[in-house]
Amino acid sequence: MANDAWDDLLTHLRKLSDIGSAIALLSWDQSVMMPSKGADFRARSSATLQLMYHELLTSPEIGALLERLSDDSSLDQIQSASVRVLARDYNKATKVPADLVRELAELEGLAYAAWTEARPASDFSKLAPLLERMVKLKKRQADAVGWEGERYDALLDDFEPGLTAAEVEGIFKDLTMQLGPVAEKILQAADDVPEFTTKEYEPAKQQAFSEWLIQKLAFDLDGGRLDTSPHPFTMTVAPGDVRQTTRYLPNEVLGGIYATIHETGHALYEQGFPLEFADLPIGHVPSLGMHESQSRLWENQVGRSRAFTNAILLKLKEQFSTELGMLTPEEFYEGVNHPERTLIRVSADEVTYNLHVALRFELELALFRDELTVADLPDAWDAGMEKHLNLRPDSDANGVLQDMHWSLGFFGYFPTYTLGTLYAAAFFDKASADLGGLEEDLKNLDGSRLLGWLRENIHSQGYLYT
Ligand code: ZN
Repeated sequence: MANDAWDDLLTHLRKLSDIGSAIALLSWDQSVMMPSKGADFRARSSATLQLMYHELLTSPEIGALLERLSDDSSLDQIQSASVRVLARDYNKATKVPADLVRELAELEGLAYAAWTEARPASDFSKLAPLLERMVKLKKRQADAVGWEGERYDALLDDFEPGLTAAEVEGIFKDLTMQLGPVAEKILQAADDVPEFTTKEYEPAKQQAFSEWLIQKLAFDLDGGRLDTSPHPFTMTVAPGDVRQTTRYLPNEVLGGIYATIHETGHALYEQGFPLEFADLPIGHVPSLGMHESQSRLWENQVGRSRAFTNAILLKLKEQFSTELGMLTPEEFYEGVNHPERTLIRVSADEVTYNLHVALRFELELALFRDELTVADLPDAWDAGMEKHLNLRPDSDANGVLQDMHWSLGFFGYFPTYTLGTLYAAAFFDKASADLGGLEEDLKNLDGSRLLGWLRENIHSQGYLYT
């Protein structure tokens, strides 16, 4: 009997994954290829497909099958994990009333559009009324889904399933208490920005370098692509079709290189899911923090190491002999790891980055604990920047308005950046101990043993475990 129900469920799962593929491809195309005049109709196509996806996921048929399978002891590990993950998605999706889903979707569009105007104008009042509505709706959504400890738990659960606000709060308290003084010491000792980092580098040559680099890192170009977009990202259309993007700005050569390494980390993870997990709810990452752990590991632990920077400098000098000909490995290493107090999270260095995230987490928590109103957000932001980074924003554009996340209703997302960074450090530590001699590998730009370790212990597991 169980096999019949499982086979029926598989039919639905394949449909869900086909619709999901179409949604992903439309979205990738929108960010990479689509002419701007296509935006209106593209938004409609995407919304229609998303509605179809939602209707299928919450259909009574899937509900009935999940009920039959949820305590079926004849299922193997892959099947029962799939049922567990799907039941979770199903329960969350059915608990939120349709009118709230629609209201949230509409508000996301409006608030994001308002943000794109508010930021360049540095005018928080353009976003504030919509953000107020957003916080109100997200509270309703959290209450509809349900929570045990506190409301923020329900929001966090969308990105880092099972983790609670109290746990994350503890992690950030420990982290900032120890990181704050260390960062301060490092910042005070830091030299000026190394000159080579601000020179002009021809984008076409940067592209050639990135294309060389991703192959060195074993990104499979027969199962993926590298393109450009203003905000680098990685998106899987389907197994065998993993697309990453980067960017080549003339005066930000390091930004481009490290965006490429970061996205390659995400993309290697996506290329590492077993083919037998295709169409199954476990053929995905268990959490956003886990995803970020893979990008950060390649970007920070590998990419910013002495061995790795020495190795890529040789190749970079081939491309940019005039700009980098005289640069020593030590100068390059210092440039790659240059610490600096900055107002902007996305341009922050490895030392200060997590302090930016801590600020956002504290503000989100206060908003959803009803300790802070949206109207007071800009002042709270500025005070928090001063507390964590000893820096006062000169404008809302460089303060509370810098990130798009809140306008899209992404509350609970920011902590995953830091969680991923912490997981990355732990994974790399374990991989180094297990493998031994990793530094020698990296000196030769050979990441194959490390990738093998990640494949075996992380990528191949998909979402088999919580
Ligand atoms: Zn990332």
